[in-house]
Amino acid sequence: MTVHKYGGSSVATPERIIHVAERVKAAWQRAPVAVVVSAMGDTTDDLLGLLRQVAHDPPAREVDLLLAAGEQISAALLAAALEDRGVPARALLGWQAGFATDGVHRKARIREVDPARVQAVLAEGAVPVVAGFQGLHAGEVTTLGRGGSDTTAVALAAALGCQRCEIYSDVDGVYTADPRVVPDARRLRALSYEEMMEMAHMGAQVLQIRAVELAEARRLTIVARSTFADGPGTEIREVDPTESEMTVRGVAHDRNIAKVTIRGVPDRPGFAHRLFAALAGHGVNVDTIVQSAPRDGRSDIVFTVARDDLPRTIEVARAAAEEVGAESAAAEEDVAMVSAVGAGMVTRPGVAATMFGALAQAGVNIEAITTSEIKISCLIREADVEAAVRAVHAAFGLGHGKA
Ligand code: ASP
Ligand code: MG
Repeated sequence: MTVHKYGGSSVATPERIIHVAERVKAAWQRAPVAVVVSAMGDTTDDLLGLLRQVAHDPPAREVDLLLAAGEQISAALLAAALEDRGVPARALLGWQAGFATDGVHRKARIREVDPARVQAVLAEGAVPVVAGFQGLHAGEVTTLGRGGSDTTAVALAAALGCQRCEIYSDVDGVYTADPRVVPDARRLRALSYEEMMEMAHMGAQVLQIRAVELAEARRLTIVARSTFADGPGTEIREVDPTESEMTVRGVAHDRNIAKVTIRGVPDRPGFAHRLFAALAGHGVNVDTIVQSAPRDGRSDIVFTVARDDLPRTIEVARAAAEEVGAESAAAEEDVAMVSAVGAGMVTRPGVAATMFGALAQAGVNIEAITTSEIKISCLIREADVEAAVRAVHAAFGLGHGKA
């Protein structure tokens, strides 16, 4: 018994839905299968665009009701396509498939999955086709955040007691770097949960982070595979560090960031708290934070946020800066982050030196650095990002024929 999840590009057109139906049919002929689907192509974005044309500040409840329609359409179409090919199938909305969530509209978290109805469909020998990305809280439809169908799939696999969850998209796995930027990037055979979370966080858009967290908690293997090819894909699971000779497993980059610099902050307790509490209060997620050593009683604070959050962020930052008598608060959007990720880093010295050396040789200036046990990230100019990714990828020997 397996769970297959098909992403938006895999069900973007009627032809592709038929292609997926053929794939599911082949799998169903071998063993029972439950399917989770995303909305067709860019449907979710299109629905949000439609909403923006009729309302400036739509109620979150209605946003969720609208967005959930996307997955309702693809689930119904895929189930109908399966039936047409002699495969008994039943489309189920999130609530019908037993997905109970908390009440946070647009970012709901799954609280519980009662798989009874899905199991009943499976017991009939039919294929349940579950609408991803949605659940129910106190009688209200909720959605799980962008990319949430991945989490639906992993949660369903866990509830059904599966050991694997296969996530199909238009890419055939997770690569050592974005192949559009680094032509000799290689597909990774396996990646640990931690490594995948860092890669996803740093811009490798293969899986929703929440799905990886859930898979780790439930000790379930995710396989990221292509809908359009028959490769083995990439397994995300517990990986023994000795299984990989590579200290660094991948190089991720993120262009969707903005940098805020607050200069001349008086060196007194309380400013960082005042600023970041205010940002948290506005729902802004702050990433890298760097504070300079104080000089003449003042220091500078640099931090990054997602570009979408910049307008709110700069407003809050200016107000906070003014309140404490800081000199200025300024924003820049032409920045990017490049990160080297690998669980083997903890035990091996010199990784940071290799990365900084590669960037220096490529003539890329580093504006800020952050590290975790399994990641080193450098804030750079956006114009440098491709050169930076290629240089770091090569420096760690991640390309074809090496490592
Ligand atoms: N359709 C939703 C989105 O585009 C959920 C998903 O695709 O997983 O974010
Ligand atoms: Mg989508």
